[in-house]
Amino acid sequence: MLSVGVLALQGDVREHLHALEAVGAEPVTVRRARELDKVDGLVIPGGESTTMIKLAKIFELFEPLRARIGEGLPVYGSCAGMILLADRVDPDGSPLEDTFGGIDITVRRNAFGRQVDSFEEDVIVDGLPGEPVRAVFIRAPWVQDVGPKAQPLGRVNPGTPDEHVVVVRQESLLATSFHPELTGDLRLHELFVEMVRAVG
Ligand code: GLN
Repeated sequence: MLSVGVLALQGDVREHLHALEAVGAEPVTVRRARELDKVDGLVIPGGESTTMIKLAKIFELFEPLRARIGEGLPVYGSCAGMILLADRVDPDGSPLEDTFGGIDITVRRNAFGRQVDSFEEDVIVDGLPGEPVRAVFIRAPWVQDVGPKAQPLGRVNPGTPDEHVVVVRQESLLATSFHPELTGDLRLHELFVEMVRAVG
């Protein structure tokens, strides 16, 4: 069975463990480099990206995870996880010194504004059959700029001046601004586990 880790430094770890189990992967928590060594794929959950980076450095996971991403480890990041997979953080949003990187995007943290802490929206995700995804956004980032190596897969407010990319993929890296682990819709976790299977 595929062993898929959830970075368990901070954030909504348990919900991702449940979703991964429900789609037939073997979920494990990852806090240490030796645990990272054993997984076939990794989920970086939502939470607080500043705290996660700080803890990753304290737990001596920052460099090992950057290195494994560089070697092609499949990783899915939701919300704060998307921020941490971005190569660049837009200085016009809340700043962040470091990310693990890997996806050729610029993200803007807390992009939807302070008044709108959380909201839900239907998002059509390219390649996911069936209904749009009911996306839950919580102090979410959006993708400010998509570089040539990354592929946008989903947007909020398509066709309007408020259109923003909220789902993106680059090879075996996947990121969403929202939290599919909170809705019981397992299709994004299924897609990610297929990506892990394809590499493994
Ligand atoms: N606002 C958080 C950050 O910038 C992300 C919020 C979330 O993951 N729900 O890290």
